Amino acid sequence: MVMDHPTIHKPTSFPVAPNLGDWATSRENFDWSSIEGEIDFLPDGRLNVAYEAIDRHVAKGNGAKVAMHWEGKNGEKESYTYDDMRRQTNKFSNVLEGLGVENGERVFTFMERLPEIYFTFFGTLKAGCVIGPLFSAFGPDPVKDRMEASGATVLVTQPELRNKIADILPLLPDLKHIIVVNKGGRSSAPLAEGDLSFEELMAAASDADASLDTTRDSYSVMHFTSGTTGKPKGAVHRHNSVIQQYATGKWALDLHPDDIYWCTADPGWVTGTSYGMIAPWTNGVTQIIYEGGFSARKWYQILQDYNVTVWYTAPTAIRMLMKSGVELPKTFNTPNLRFMASVGEPLNPEGVIWGQEAFGLPFHDNWWQTETGAIMIANYNSMDIKPGSMGRPIPGIEAGIIDADGNPVPDGENGILAARPGWPSMFQVYWNDQERYDSRFKNGWYLTGDEAVRDSDGYFWFVGRSDDVINTAGHLVGPFEVESALLEHPAVAEAGVIGKPDPIAMEVVKAFVSLKDGYEASDELRRELMGFARKKLAAAVAPREIEIVDSLPKTRSGKIMRRLLKARELGLPEGDTSTLEDD
Ligand code: ATP
Ligand code: MG
Repeated sequence: MVMDHPTIHKPTSFPVAPNLGDWATSRENFDWSSIEGEIDFLPDGRLNVAYEAIDRHVAKGNGAKVAMHWEGKNGEKESYTYDDMRRQTNKFSNVLEGLGVENGERVFTFMERLPEIYFTFFGTLKAGCVIGPLFSAFGPDPVKDRMEASGATVLVTQPELRNKIADILPLLPDLKHIIVVNKGGRSSAPLAEGDLSFEELMAAASDADASLDTTRDSYSVMHFTSGTTGKPKGAVHRHNSVIQQYATGKWALDLHPDDIYWCTADPGWVTGTSYGMIAPWTNGVTQIIYEGGFSARKWYQILQDYNVTVWYTAPTAIRMLMKSGVELPKTFNTPNLRFMASVGEPLNPEGVIWGQEAFGLPFHDNWWQTETGAIMIANYNSMDIKPGSMGRPIPGIEAGIIDADGNPVPDGENGILAARPGWPSMFQVYWNDQERYDSRFKNGWYLTGDEAVRDSDGYFWFVGRSDDVINTAGHLVGPFEVESALLEHPAVAEAGVIGKPDPIAMEVVKAFVSLKDGYEASDELRRELMGFARKKLAAAVAPREIEIVDSLPKTRSGKIMRRLLKARELGLPEGDTSTLEDD
């Protein structure tokens, strides 16, 4: 645990009263049915994510409110009200029906962050089909693997991405329809034979209400995991997830209807759908969608131009922003920004504190994973933050730290992070892999694959992925602790720590670090970093070796792939690299 940073006390006053009050009180006697009352179930026991996110706001008279401000990568701007979203998603649902696509069939998107991906997502859910969003930077093989595994019958894509994967499309026997979005006529090439034009289908489709023939248990979203620890798994969710996605949008992101919200995650990853679509829109906020990629200056510009109030991003982005300095954000005006949160990887204390220096607000870390479907552990708005901690479980969630036999370990001791099954957004299957699904449960717990510690105040502290924890001379060392210490050195931009086999100690700690702009790799700096880490960490934990590298291998969603650092170090096969970011 990296507990040597002072607690950041919750503010004495808030611009808007937080949705969640005292942690302990709000958990007492909590029952999910209390929050279910805020969701509008459909008649006959039906439940549909798209209806909850979009149509119900229209039904309540808020159809004219802007749901989405979209900014394209070429500076295009479009805005859609909740009623526009209702009509576009009805149309897409009717397109699927017209094509004879049936309940339960898998519809995949391979698209950039265009408004059409949002219409397709919810239109598919309205039609009772399962939506599988693929990240647009994938090459042909990862697309083929995922579409083949899922038996997808429909692909919605755009011209340049269709070209990229042209060779694999004939190899997918289940694929019946390829629908191509030609945004703003960006492409002048004719459609390939047999392809359908999204624009033509939508123009011809009725915007009459869709059937919404789904229940709590109908499958909804299929997301492949990030591939950080191995071959990505296809986790399938059900419409019931909306309950927790709504609740956590409200509690953990503190969304209020008047918020202008920006989630920087791509819909190709679970954060981009659970919190880039479902949570914000079920909470009735206005969302910003930016099609372009990362640029510190542009991101600050977006926060300023759209007057963003709540911002949800990831440690990798925060580290890149930190790299460009604390002065740059201060040259922008973001007076209404009131809450910032982070997910996806451990957020180093440095990141939390940097938020305060740059914006006067700490980043609030929260923890969840593709399989959990929604936030499980969080630092809420109304909670004191211990920098380096993931926070505490939300109401209705029982999280625990257990040993290999599934028995709880005492507070303060490392163990497996686990959750009691039964939370509303729990995944239902790994597609076609029941054995793997079953292997994730033990002694009444769901095993997350992460290791953590709980302190006596109930805060959870991430130690590392179970696979990444290092055993050095009998000490169990979490990479996060070592990486966080290295990150406190002014020269270090990123750090990845592995256990390197050693004949005496079993493993020794080895760190790979990349440097901030303006620093040069040298033996002297390397030695300085060794000394720095030794001062911060116990001798057993401090890295025995440090290697300065240009960059660390990361997933396309920005997570450090320690398994690749290790495989490369040991000259072993790299395993599945389908989600590895290009250099
Ligand atoms: P794969 O399962 O394919 O190896 P992945 O686990 O990275 O990939 P995701 O479901 O996208 O796939 O990520 C969830 C994981 O990300 C968590 O299990 C955890 O290891 C890490 N994570 C997410 N949020 C946090 C956080 N706040 N602190 C620490 N780790 C986090
Ligand atoms: Mg995982």
